Parts: sequence; structure tokens; C-alpha cells
Amino acid sequence: MIADVPPPPIHQDPIPFGAERRADMRRYARRHYGIRSARLKPRTIVQHVTVNTSYRATWNTFAPNVADGELGELPGTCTHFVVDRRGGIHQLVPLELMCRHTVGLNHVAIGIEHVGMADGDVMGNARQLEASLRLTRWLQAEHDIRTRDVIGHNESLTSPYRVERVARLRDQTHGDMTPTTMRRYRRQLGRIG
Ligand SMILES: [Zn+2]
Repeated sequence: MIADVPPPPIHQDPIPFGAERRADMRRYARRHYGIRSARLKPRTIVQHVTVNTSYRATWNTFAPNVADGELGELPGTCTHFVVDRRGGIHQLVPLELMCRHTVGLNHVAIGIEHVGMADGDVMGNARQLEASLRLTRWLQAEHDIRTRDVIGHNESLTSPYRVERVARLRDQTHGDMTPTTMRRYRRQLGRIG
């Protein structure tokens, strides 16, 4: 168990997640995980980099419920949290809901995006990194998530929680937040709480 950690300041900035998007999420969960619900059961936290330079552009990317360009599926991709370049934390989706940010883990993963072009932008930005660590540590304490289950998107294939029923996606992952980055990130988590 992680000791209690105070919640960091979080700006609520929800994207539209109405009945249609929830129904799309339920269908996705059934197709990919064999689960008949869009309700998130948090077991892991996945860290991402947006590969863009602004919070507003990030919000605008996730807001519409449109099929993504890479996999062509609904609901639209999204994330629970975004940490901006000044260390502001924004919540886009409530934690009760699954959202699409990591193939194979959306049924159990809280998603945290960081505005930046590459891992080094996040690890080299003291305010952004500190906000991210505090948010993650608080979420770990709230949901009893082990530090080894705080992973980078690029580590998704080796998570013990990974499930993917669609054969063409069995080996699908992204390059953001590599094992090298995440070893440093997890070490730093130990400083907080
Ligand atoms: Zn990612």
C-alpha cells in the first residue's frame, strides 16, 4: 500500500462523453476484452506523450467522437488526464469510464498524457514532471496501484494485465514513454509519499 498522498490541484475540463460515445466504448470493450461494460477497473497507469506542443490542441484531438486514423475504430481516442507544459493538470474523462489510449489495457488503465514532442521534453521539464509524479502517486494511493504497474505506453506489451482479442492488434504498441524513461520515472515516484 502507498501511504496517503494529498490530491494535486486538478482542473476539470471534460470532453463530451455522452450516451453514444459510452455505447461505442461498451462495444469496444466487448470486442477487444470480452467485457460487457465501459466501467473502468483501474489496475495500472499508462504514461504518454502527446507529440504536439499545446494543451488546447490535445483537448481538441480527443474531444470529437470520431474513428481514429490509425486503427479506424470508435469511440474516439482519449485520455483521463493531461499534464501541460506549465505543470497544470486537466481531467478530461471521469475515472469511472474506460477510454481509448492504450491497445490491450483500456479496460484497466488510467491514461495520463503529457504535452510534448518526446519523452525527453517531459523528463526535462521540472514543473511538468513534478505535477505528473504527484498526480500518479495520488492515483496509486487512491486505487492501490503498485509502482511496477505505472508503465509507459511503450511498455504496454509486457503488462500482466494486457488482453487483446483482435489478432491484428496482439503486438500493437506505441513508441512514447520507453522502458529507459520509465525506469527513471518510477525511481522518482519513490520520492513522493
Ligand atoms: Zn501513447
